[in-house]
Amino acid sequence: MKCPFCGKDDTRVIDSRPADENTSIRRRRVCDSCGKRFTTYEKVETIPLIVIKKGDVREPYDRAKIEAGVFRACHKRPVSAE
Ligand SMILES: [Zn+2]
Repeated sequence: MKCPFCGKDDTRVIDSRPADENTSIRRRRVCDSCGKRFTTYEKVETIPLIVIKKGDVREPYDRAKIEAGVFRACHKRPVSAE
């Protein structure tokens, strides 16, 4: 998975555990390039949500994009990774 901090692909999982009352898997990952850590969640896909983008372009909802955006927004701010 691509690192949300430096964009490199060489990240690995360092911890996996059930989350959200066992409806998802929470994974802690570390980037071997920049050393930063981040969390991903694996969930069952149930509802095919569509996002309407600028210019009326439609694309499938991607939770990872929201998370990556939040990580980017918090980068170098006093917000913990948790
Ligand atoms: Zn990185």
